[in-house]
Order: sequence, then C-alpha cells, then structure tokens
Amino acid sequence: MTHVATPGADVRVAFVGAGPGEADLITVRGAARLQEADVVLFDSLADPALRQLAPNARWIDVGKRGFSGVPHAPRGGKENTGQDTINALLVKHAQSGAQVVRLKGGDPSVFGRLEEELAALATAGIECEVVPGVTAALAAAAATQRPLTRRGAGRSVALTTAMTQSGDLVAGRHADTESFYMAGKQLAALSRRLVAAGWPAETPALVVSRAGWPDQIASEHGVGTLGDATVLHSGRPTVVTIGVGATAIGTSAEPIDASRMTTASATGAAPAAASSDPRAEARSSTP
Ligand code: SAH
Repeated sequence: MTHVATPGADVRVAFVGAGPGEADLITVRGAARLQEADVVLFDSLADPALRQLAPNARWIDVGKRGFSGVPHAPRGGKENTGQDTINALLVKHAQSGAQVVRLKGGDPSVFGRLEEELAALATAGIECEVVPGVTAALAAAAATQRPLTRRGAGRSVALTTAMTQSGDLVAGRHADTESFYMAGKQLAALSRRLVAAGWPAETPALVVSRAGWPDQIASEHGVGTLGDATVLHSGRPTVVTIGVGATAIGTSAEPIDASRMTTASATGAAPAAASSDPRAEARSSTP
C-alpha cells in the first residue's frame, strides 16, 4: 500500500525542496516548515539566506555530495556511510521531540536519495511529509524561456542521470525533451553516448549552470558538440536539456532544423553585470 501522511498525524520530519538557487525559489509551504523547525539538516546546494527563515533552529550541515558528487554511488563505500549518518541523525532528532526539516536542493524526489531517508523513518515509525521544490530542469527552462513541453511536438519529458550506480555513463533516448543531471563534468562523453543512442548530432542541446542563481549561465549547442560547453560551465552545477525543449521559441521544434541553431553561443540568463566572473562576457541579455 502506498503511504500517505495521515491527516492530524504527529508529523515530526518535513522533507523540504529548497529549490535550485536563490532562497525565494522555495515554496511558501517549505518556508513555513522552516519557520516551525527546531532542527534543520541541510546540504550544500541550499542558499545560506534560507537561514533567515529559521534563525533560532539548529542548522546541521550534512552536505556530503555537493553538486559534483555521485548521489547514486556504489553501496558500501564512504558515500553510503554518509547516508547512514544522515538517516541516523534524522531519526535521533525526530525521536528527541524536535520538529525536523530535511532541506534538499531542488526537489527532494529528484536525485535526492529521498528513498533511503523515507525508509529509515518508516522503519523507526516516524511520520513525515514531503514538500516539493523547483527542480533544476525546471529552473533551466525558466532561465532560458524554453518550455519543456511544446504543443504538438514535445509531449514527454525525461529527467535522467547518465551516471549509473557503478559510475558508468549511459544515455538513451527516452522522451521528446530529456534533461540530464550530474553530467557537467562529462559533457563530451555524454555527447558521444547520446549520438550513439540515436539522437541526431544536430539536435538542439541547452546547457545551463547555476540555474536560479543571479550568475546562471546558459549556452546552446547541438548534441554532437556538447563538449564545447565544458569550459564555460566548469565547476558549476549543470543541467543539460536536449531535444524539443531546448529549441528557442519562434523556431520550428519539429523537425529539427540544424541551420537555425547557433552552435555554442551563450544565451541570456542573467545580466552580465551581475557577476565579475569573466564568463559573464559570454552572456547576452535575452535568450
Ligand atoms: N534534487 C536536485 C538534484 C540533485 S542532483 C534537484 O531537484 O534539482 C545534483 C545535480 O542537479 C547537479 O549535478 C546538477 O546536474 C543539478 N543541479 C542542481 N542544482 C542546479 C542548478 N542550480 N543549476 C543547474 N543544475 C543544477
């Protein structure tokens, strides 16, 4: 049977999606849960400004992965020890009677190891709720004004990680628009895998890093030239959108017309003046 929180139940733990970037991208409900919290377990994607929503709570940094880690790493390694510690902390604080928020970047249900933490609480008989958040793929679509679905042409969206548990990079073709998480460091390899999986090399590909932050950067490519984005987005959390949802508005989404793509040009995300980052020069003000 699917577990749904019982109305009126004593909910001790709220998993809250912090959103992808700046603090005001959290939901109103997520902000309310933070205000009620005694203890907040957070990881490294969360904006420090969120602390102002719960200034008296005890904030515990359990960020062990950051944006560059591999949340689905092989079991039994160091990574899993970190997850076990988080599970134990959740249970311990909830059992002490504290109101606990587990704050996760983006949405808790998307590549967030939520399943392990839910299972740990269920085993301990602790009631919890999940408050959704804005996941990175949605923030990237908003930043670039490129809707993930398009009437008539884009009927499906896949949220994908190309990284497997064993650390291999795999890619397929699952939807009209596909968003890849955790591939920022391996864009050239992702490009090769995507072409091998049947995506035409000229398929629109959009690379957005730090979506939802003032210094977000977006650049457009073809699937076959994704590797060109490596330097521009290096060291930043990056999501890659390919297919119909990567196409600029006003261009035909289907069939893909390679001649309309501006390969490797940066596209507008934030005013260039917002950052002293030299990469800001690559941006323009409109998508
Ligand atoms: N739960 C998160 C995803 C966690 S996995 C969510 O819903 O967004 C971490 C990966 O998410 C990163 O490797 C990167 O691919 C992506 N990501 C997270 N924040 C991002 C951001 N602000 N901009 C672009 N990609 C981001």
